[in-house]
Amino acid sequence: LVPRMQGFGTTIFAEMSALAVATGSINLGQGFPDTDGPPKMLETAVEAIRSGGNQYPPGPGLPELREAVAAQRLERYGLEFDPATEVFVTVGATEGIAASVLALTGPGDEVIVFEPYYDSYAATIALAGAVRRPVTLRPVEGRFTFDPDELRAAVGPRTRAVLVNSPHNPAGTVFTREELEVIAGVCREHDLIAITDEVYEYLTFDDTEHIPLATLDGMRERTVSISSTGKTFSVTGWKTGWVTAPAPYIRAVQTVKQFVTYATGGPWQRATAYALRNELPWVAELRTSLQAKRDRLITGLEAAGFTAYRPQGTYFVQADIRPLGYTDGMELAKALPDKAGVVAIPTQVFYDHAEAGAPFVRFAFCKKDEVIDEAVERLANLR
Ligand code: PMP
Ligand code: GLN
Repeated sequence: LVPRMQGFGTTIFAEMSALAVATGSINLGQGFPDTDGPPKMLETAVEAIRSGGNQYPPGPGLPELREAVAAQRLERYGLEFDPATEVFVTVGATEGIAASVLALTGPGDEVIVFEPYYDSYAATIALAGAVRRPVTLRPVEGRFTFDPDELRAAVGPRTRAVLVNSPHNPAGTVFTREELEVIAGVCREHDLIAITDEVYEYLTFDDTEHIPLATLDGMRERTVSISSTGKTFSVTGWKTGWVTAPAPYIRAVQTVKQFVTYATGGPWQRATAYALRNELPWVAELRTSLQAKRDRLITGLEAAGFTAYRPQGTYFVQADIRPLGYTDGMELAKALPDKAGVVAIPTQVFYDHAEAGAPFVRFAFCKKDEVIDEAVERLANLR
C-alpha cells in the first residue's frame, strides 16, 4: 500500500457491519434502510435489464437521467444546468466526490472539511495528495455548528476547496442560510471551489429546508454539487450518483471518471431517471416516516440514559455517552455488541481532533419500528 494511503485500513462501516453479523447484533451502525425503494422504480430497473439495456451506457450518463437531474435541480432549487455539458453521472456520490477532489485538487493544495466528516473525504483528499484542514462542528444548544472565525482562520494561501456536506452525516445538521452565507463569503473572498455533498437533500425534518450552496450569490459558478439515488430512494446498493457544475468542472471530473469506472450501470440510471420524475411523492412519505422513527429512537435513547441530539436531517442520531458513565465512544462501540447486542458507529473516527468526537456514538434510524424498539430495549440495560 502506498504511503499516502497508510492508516486508512478498513472503513468503519464495513468493520462494524461485520461485527453485527458476527455477533448477531441489531445493526444501527452503517446507514442503510431495511425496506425497499418504490416498487415501480425497482420494476423499471428489471425492465431495463429484460429489454436489453445491458451494454455500456455513455460515459457521462444516459441522456434521460441527465435530463431528469437537470429538471429536478431547476424545479426544486431554481438552478439551471445544461444536461449535455453540466450534468454528469457517477457510481454513487462516492465516485462523484472522489472524481471531483482528484480532478480539482492536487499535491500541496488544502481542502477545508467540517469534522466530523464522512470517511471517504479524508481518503480521497489523501489520494489526491492534498491536505485536509478540519473545522470542528460543536454542539451549541442541541445542534452541531461551526464557529465562523474558525472557518476563516482555516483558510490559507494553499486553500483550494471547501467540502460541504448538508444535511450533514453524522452530525445531523442542515446548514441554515446564515451558515451557508458564511461559507459562501469565504469561497468568494478567497476564490475557492465548493464541493457539496447533498445525498440527504430530501431527508430533512420538521420545517427544515435544504438549501444548496450553489443557490447563493456568486456560488453557482464555483460550486460542484453532488447527490445520488441511494438515500433518497432507499436503494443504497445501486450506487448511482450525479454531479452538477459549470462545464469546465464537469470536463475535469469526466477526465478522471473515464479512467476509474468509465461509465455507470445502465439499468440503475434508467430507474433513477424514472424515480426523479415520478416518485417524489413516495420520498415525501419516506421523510414523514423517518421523522417519526427519529423521534422513536431519540425517546428510547433518552430513556436508556444517553443525551441524544435531534437531527434536522439524515437518518442518524448523535448520542452523548457521558451521562451513562462512559467517555470513549470507540471503546463503547466495540463493547456494545457484547453488552447490549447492538451495533453503533463511534463518531470519533470522523475527526482529526479525536477528543472532540470521543463522547459520541452514532445510531441509524432508517429501520423498521420493531427493530428500533428492540434495539432501545436492549440499550436500556446499559446503565
Ligand atoms: N456522502 C455521505 C454524507 C453519505 O452518508 C454517503 C452514504 N450514502 C455517501 C456520500 C455515499 O453515497 P453513495 O452511496 O451514493 O456513494
Ligand atoms: N453512508 C453510510 C453511513 O454513513 C455508509 C456507506 C458506506 O458504507 N460506505 O453509514
